[in-house]
Amino acid sequence: MSKRVESKFVMLDRSRCEACWECIAICPQTVLGKIEVFGHRHAVINAGDRCAGCQRCVKVCTTGALVSREGRSAAEVTGVDASRGSGART
Ligand code: SF4
Ligand code: SF4
Repeated sequence: MSKRVESKFVMLDRSRCEACWECIAICPQTVLGKIEVFGHRHAVINAGDRCAGCQRCVKVCTTGALVSREGRSAAEVTGVDASRGSGART
């Protein structure tokens, strides 16, 4: 679960995503995908291991849902510890 909101280079704040799919269209590595959870459609990081860190998705996202990690942890970027709640730390 937690891996679906981060790659090595970018973080996704699902609550900010407005499902415009611009990031999916521009990602050259097909890292990103779509998901619908309880009626809320948003982007998801499907293949974070393929992310090359080009930052195209960050630049195209106008809502601030996608941000560069720049070496920061999930908690520092979103204020939420993405590893909590899943019950599994990697
Ligand atoms: S560009 Fe931003 S708002 Fe649009 S689908 Fe991607 S994460 Fe969501
Ligand atoms: S940084 Fe580049 S490769 Fe990684 S998800 Fe964004 S657009 Fe795709």
